[in-house]
Amino acid sequence: MIVNRSFWLRQALEHDTDVAEPLARDLKVDTCIVGGGFTGLWTAINLKRHEPAMEIAIIEKDICGGGASGRNGGFCMTWMSKSTTLLKLCGGQEGGRLLRESALGVKAIGEFCRDHDIDCQFQHNGWVWTASNAAQAGAWDSTLEALDKLGLHPYEPLDQNRLAELTGSEGHHSGVLEPGVATLQPAMLARGLRRVALELGVKIFESTAMLELIRGPTPSVRTAGGTVTADAVVLALNAWAHELPEFRRTVLPIAADVIATRPAHEHLQSAGLHNCVAVSDSRTLVNFYRTTTEGRMVWGVGGGAIPFAGRLGTSFDYESPRRDQVAAMMRRFVPSLESVEIEAAWRGPATRTMTGLPFFGTLSGSDNIHYGHGYTGNGVGPCYLGGKILASKVLQQRDEWSETPIAQGPVQKRLPPEPVRYFGGGLVRAACARVDHAQDESRQPSNLDRHLASFAPAGLAPTKQQ
Ligand SMILES: Cc1cc2nc3c(=O)[nH]c(=O)nc-3n(C[C@H](O)[C@H](O)[C@H](O)COP(=O)(O)OP(=O)(O)OC[C@H]3O[C@@H](n4cnc5c(N)ncnc54)[C@H](O)[C@@H]3O)c2cc1C
Repeated sequence: MIVNRSFWLRQALEHDTDVAEPLARDLKVDTCIVGGGFTGLWTAINLKRHEPAMEIAIIEKDICGGGASGRNGGFCMTWMSKSTTLLKLCGGQEGGRLLRESALGVKAIGEFCRDHDIDCQFQHNGWVWTASNAAQAGAWDSTLEALDKLGLHPYEPLDQNRLAELTGSEGHHSGVLEPGVATLQPAMLARGLRRVALELGVKIFESTAMLELIRGPTPSVRTAGGTVTADAVVLALNAWAHELPEFRRTVLPIAADVIATRPAHEHLQSAGLHNCVAVSDSRTLVNFYRTTTEGRMVWGVGGGAIPFAGRLGTSFDYESPRRDQVAAMMRRFVPSLESVEIEAAWRGPATRTMTGLPFFGTLSGSDNIHYGHGYTGNGVGPCYLGGKILASKVLQQRDEWSETPIAQGPVQKRLPPEPVRYFGGGLVRAACARVDHAQDESRQPSNLDRHLASFAPAGLAPTKQQ
């Protein structure tokens, strides 16, 4: 049982007491989706849009939104910041298409919420990608250059005044604004999507863990209360995908820690923060923050614990052990929040892949089991596209979604095996922290730390190390 729900999910559950019963019988459906986060829910909704009569069951071990989808920072981003990698993987034409689709996806999420009365505080006010010390400056240069070649100009330069105004902080050295990004209350979105899926006739079973995936011409998912047999299975497991042997070397579960303050309108006003703009810097252990429509500051730091062999267990379900560290970071950047109480601190399972992009595919040897995961800190917006890709795979439509290069499985390059990854990951993470610290003090990091930090897999956005 999860002992510490995120602030977002607790707030969402105040308005939504509906709990689906666990599966308690054997069931035959057309499509069984395992995982009730954004990926699973958007996939179900897309399938129902295409085939209203399709019988769909979602199996969720906790409650819908209990995973990363209900615990994140609520940045609803495009893929523009990941354009160099996306273009490398997909080429100019397809990469450009995906970039444009990712921008349209953010708008589509806002429209979907409006059309379906999902009150997730969607605010389309942009993202400021900053350098929080001189060494990070220009982390976005190669991205802007690549986008420029495609005729895309999603970023606006910021002068020092505008930067301080938008970020509410004097702590940023430089930055660019991407107006196409939104912020939202992620658990309200997840619970809203769950409601829409139910209204469309999707069967949802919460507190129902997949205990075994049985492959074959008609795959099935065994749970404690019964087995679901389906023509197609979709694995929408995010960090938990690591539990399947196929993904041990391609998805790295890693903790991210988030705090939320009590409402503090006056303190935010005095820092000039009132517009829910998303802000993140260019550290490997990234700082990300935004305010909420209720006047809270929500601040997160990436690059937390890496569980041994990716076994998440319940270690990410407690209050964040980095609460004080994250709060100190927030107060360093926004000193006017010094006396504002921290109301909640939580931790969630984020993922990293070698490319920093998610990948989708079909299990080899099982043409009816599809998967999608590895969003690397940027899934709130892209899960919408993930839902299109996975629906297209289930429907066996050979179209731009099922055929896109990011839907052909993981890239060849693999994460190191255990125990190298666990111990090596710890060394790399510590080196990244020392590099950030040295650069904050305008010192040169040691060559060894630089070298170790260069092994960090891609993060939310490119850093100068990558
Ligand atoms: C702290 C944090 C901050 C983040 N901040 C941002 C952000 O600001 N912006 C952004 O774009 N992205 C952010 N992300 C990433 C984003 O939250 C994810 O990419 C996105 O939510 C992934 O959605 P998903 O549906 O694929 O995974 P999840 O929401 O994790 O869903 C997977 C589901 O599978 C279920 N499950 C697992 N195993 C089983 C099983 N055996 N049987 C049944 N069900 C199972 C889980 O309970 C879970 O509900 C953040 C992530 C974290 C952890």
